Amino acid sequence: MKINEQRLLGNLHELRKFTTTPGEGVTRFSYTPMDAKARAYIIKRAEAAGCSVAIDALQNIRIGLGANVPGRPIVLAGSHIDTVQNGGWLDGIYGVCGALEVMETLTEEIGRGTFVPSCNYEVILFAEEEGSNFGSTMTGSKFLAGKYGEAELDSLKDGAGNTLRQRLAALADIPDAPECALPLYNRGDVDVSEVPLDFGTIKTMLELHIEQGPVLDREGLSMGIVDNIFGMRVVEFTLSGLGNHAGASPMSERADALCAAAEAITECESIVRSDEDHRTVVTFGHIEMLPNQSNVIPETVHLTMEVRDRDKAKIDGYTQICIDTFRSVCEERGLECSIHEHSSSVPIVLSRRLVGEMTRRAEDHQINFKVMDSGAVHDACMLAEHVDTGMIFAPSINGRSHVPEEDTDEADLVSAAQFLMDTVLEELK
Ligand SMILES: [Zn+2]
Repeated sequence: MKINEQRLLGNLHELRKFTTTPGEGVTRFSYTPMDAKARAYIIKRAEAAGCSVAIDALQNIRIGLGANVPGRPIVLAGSHIDTVQNGGWLDGIYGVCGALEVMETLTEEIGRGTFVPSCNYEVILFAEEEGSNFGSTMTGSKFLAGKYGEAELDSLKDGAGNTLRQRLAALADIPDAPECALPLYNRGDVDVSEVPLDFGTIKTMLELHIEQGPVLDREGLSMGIVDNIFGMRVVEFTLSGLGNHAGASPMSERADALCAAAEAITECESIVRSDEDHRTVVTFGHIEMLPNQSNVIPETVHLTMEVRDRDKAKIDGYTQICIDTFRSVCEERGLECSIHEHSSSVPIVLSRRLVGEMTRRAEDHQINFKVMDSGAVHDACMLAEHVDTGMIFAPSINGRSHVPEEDTDEADLVSAAQFLMDTVLEELK
């Protein structure tokens, strides 16, 4: 069963237009008028294909194939439609358009009587994946998986101090699209009790996504089948030294918090870089310094460290080595070092059944592919503990993502989406 490549690419190009930063990448945050335009486009297509549309309190959307029969196991496919600030045109929306293309193709084939599914098919659109509003990633899928609930409605706040609950309530101010019969949002009371998925009803979850890294492009491959997703530990360090005059304090009598941080950071980097598997990654992504003035020795540095790998033992091992490194550098330099474990997530193993079946199918179809890790976490991971979950990657040119330059060859976009179609078909049998 062949997907319609022109329709797939056409939908992607149309949705690319829904950005608040034209010419400077795609910016489309959840719960905004631009998000509403993208939702209207997709809901209109679903309506035209005779599909059902259900929207939960978090504004995740589920689109059910018109031919679905109540009570049958559900095969889900989808991704997110929100972006980062000045992001790319494919992150998230590619998986949505791929799943939508599968739905439109199935609708045609079932209509012609050329295919009779024995399971139900649904497209799922996850809200607020990127954390652009509230700084918490995969918010929609965390509610679906039951990891977030009532408490997060009030604890998650956007940059202006509005809670998630307030933002959801404010959706009443966004008008529905005149071209859609169905509303774009669920605007009743913000009641999240019905959001968690009934995993007993779901057979499979499939997410098509761009790789967002350099592996497939560098190796000249056209597709990836994901088997493991990196877990991580996030640790916060506060280094306390002594602020003093930048001219009158001899170098030998300083307790400079920034220099200590710099030494510890570069030492940690070189330790992790020399890992024999070249897989573990460490990132010091956020740093604040006090008093942050040109003529004062830095007294306090606060920074975050993330260690990621697919192997929990490696994450724990390197996290401990880096903590010890910070401690010993601070001790040597006469600084205090306080350490606070911020958060963590365990590595995720995707369905071995799906990886095996997809691998055989990709070999049969002579696709240039590899089975690979995902360093980034995706919505599908939130469901992976509960249902058979698989992920398919298309290459990212030069490994660029979350930037306006994010791109993928059209041929690769089409072939990975066709692979999603073939995988869905197998699951529906
Ligand atoms: Zn994404």
